[in-house]
Amino acid sequence: IESQPRRQQPGNPKPSQGNPPTHLLKRRDALLPTRKSLPIWPHAEPIRAALRKNNVLVLTGETGSGKSTQVPQFLLSEPWCTKTIAITQPRRVAAISLARRVAEEMGSLMGNQSPAAKVGYSVRFDNATGPGTRVKFLTEGMLLQEMLRDPEMSQYSAVVVDEVHERSVNVDLILGFLKNLVAGIEKVKKRKTPLKVVVMSATADVEALVQFFGDGVKTSIENGKIEAGDSESKISNSHVSIGDKPEKRDTAKMIENFDQKPTEDSHDQISTCFVEGRQYPVKTIYLPQPTQDWVESALKIIFQIHYKEPLPGDILVFLTGQDTIEGLEKLINEYAQGMDSDVPKLLALPLFAALPQHAQQRIFTPTPHRTRKVILATNIAETSVTVPGVRFVIDCGKSKIKQFRNRLGLESLLVKPISKSAAIQRKGRAGREAAGQCYRLYTEKGYEIMEERTTPEILRCDLSHAILTMKARGADDVLNFPFLDRPPREALEKALLQLLHLSALEETGAISEMGLKMAKLPLTPTLGRVLVEAARPERDCLLDVVDIISALSVENIFLNLVTEERKEEAEAARRELYRREGDHMTLLVTVQRYSEERSDRKVWCEKHFVSHRAMQNVMNIKKQLLQQCSQLKLLTSTELPASSSSEAKTQAGLACILRGFISNTARLMPDGSYRTLMGNQTVSIHPSSVLFGRKTEAIVFSEFVFTGKAWARGVSAVQLDWVSEVIEAIM
Ligand code: ADP
Repeated sequence: IESQPRRQQPGNPKPSQGNPPTHLLKRRDALLPTRKSLPIWPHAEPIRAALRKNNVLVLTGETGSGKSTQVPQFLLSEPWCTKTIAITQPRRVAAISLARRVAEEMGSLMGNQSPAAKVGYSVRFDNATGPGTRVKFLTEGMLLQEMLRDPEMSQYSAVVVDEVHERSVNVDLILGFLKNLVAGIEKVKKRKTPLKVVVMSATADVEALVQFFGDGVKTSIENGKIEAGDSESKISNSHVSIGDKPEKRDTAKMIENFDQKPTEDSHDQISTCFVEGRQYPVKTIYLPQPTQDWVESALKIIFQIHYKEPLPGDILVFLTGQDTIEGLEKLINEYAQGMDSDVPKLLALPLFAALPQHAQQRIFTPTPHRTRKVILATNIAETSVTVPGVRFVIDCGKSKIKQFRNRLGLESLLVKPISKSAAIQRKGRAGREAAGQCYRLYTEKGYEIMEERTTPEILRCDLSHAILTMKARGADDVLNFPFLDRPPREALEKALLQLLHLSALEETGAISEMGLKMAKLPLTPTLGRVLVEAARPERDCLLDVVDIISALSVENIFLNLVTEERKEEAEAARRELYRREGDHMTLLVTVQRYSEERSDRKVWCEKHFVSHRAMQNVMNIKKQLLQQCSQLKLLTSTELPASSSSEAKTQAGLACILRGFISNTARLMPDGSYRTLMGNQTVSIHPSSVLFGRKTEAIVFSEFVFTGKAWARGVSAVQLDWVSEVIEAIM
């Protein structure tokens, strides 16, 4: 099965003719045997046949079976595939690393390197596509943005929705829009050729997806079984069973909510395909007693493995977020320094979403000689990214998830136990290449009481962004949108109200001019509102606000310090950056000072206990945001606005933050506590805030964290009458 363009012959083509350089073609040919050994390889033809016949294919297969990298390549040479194939990913890390891998496999440069390059990616704040891009990896958010700009998706022949089992809100929206588009229900300009849709997942409930898309009959393709290859190995080799018996479905129910019936030529059949991956046995080891301190437990186990187990065999540790990852990374490095010279080296590599690209890419480089890699990851590595070489998994059993509290009207990131299905996925990462071991930092009982599946995000998050996107795409009747899982009515209403408060909607519920601008920004509605407010002539502080938003968009620009002593040292070093107005102005000053630093920015960061890594991200985001502002005509020039006094500028900046985060405001009570103005909930200023321990008549905060009690993080001091004024105006 050759999915490379047939005209391209390996040889000595000149890059100037649009041909890739020879070394890329050599690499492409060298990778072909690896591709051919992937479990999905034998299914190329059935997959193609399925999509020739039907417009929708639901494809399930274990992580690592080759879905994300191979399916687009299988389809590229199909006669119906004259335009680009989009493949969505829940995370930017995965989108970029997959694009790199597929470019290598196809012998192509990356989309932005040559007009002829066939592979590219587009993620928030980073676009690497070109006119020749035929395979385009994008984050779900970016595809949604494109769906707003080009409702009929005219530049695509196919959309591959990957990692559907993660069930992000964005994937649910994409599925809803695609269902309407494929069925011809959406009121968009008609496409000349049908859009092909492939829905891929590692664990998804196929039935639910087929039912969701199925307006007719589920077709059966051949029922093929491929024999296990090497009977010696412990691999349960790939087998397929494609399709089941034809099954009638009652679809009237599914479309009764819509005025329009599907158009005549809409294809109403769905194919399914199942690819079984390779999995070696993985031994599970539980803790005898529950622990709270999993960073320490993980550290012990890492060194235990390192001293006991032979190489090769890398370790993958699942942690909750940047803070715990960076904490453990430091500890490993400290302890590793004390190892005897005859012990192999330990190389700790962090992997989390906010990590810059080049640092993320390091996990894919081969492990150096006499070294063991320890990858410290968030749940990114659960299914999104396949890390090679892993034989040991350490699972803390927790992850950070978004949780919306309807009563409070606040969304927060909470550290919560994972589900059984996530624990199984994590464990599976140890058995990709050989038999492995999985250390669970919880007891067997702890495992047994875990929920079976992770609740889809749409059932537990703030829906205002989702609804704004729906409205911007003309899906006005949000209560009747085709949701794979329907969120509670209360949550939908709450979000509509929130959008009304932000003036993103008119009183009638239709999207406003302001809302349209907000929807086109790659920001949450609150941050979008802050930005649009800053562009208004009476505020005129867009550049400052862009700096603040960029800093808020990365996890933490200030380094987390483990010991008290270091904390005091850092406090002293950072004092010149702290602003009495609070965290937002402190962020602004930090970004400004960093930008102005002409000598060595890295040294500057070290001196101020600021994360250089995070600041590089901030600068990148800032650049992209400014571009988007100028596209949306929010920014008329990149020159600094006519200088007003710094006091007035600070006030203008705070007023913008207040306008967006009006639901996150609290006033000081006589007993010294803070109570939210819209919800009457007690909150405390988080210890990480520069305002911690200070009393001020009112605060606005950009983040809400719940750990034992309700904390406001990212806090600014404001005057109570400013808050009342805004609330009065919107109520
Ligand atoms: P799936 O989508 O079924 O999880 P993938 O197509 O992502 O599978 O991965 C198939 C194989 O390709 C993986 O087992 C991995 O070895 C390899 N691979 C994927 N991405 C990369 C990368 N960025 N670098 C090196 N190898 C990769």
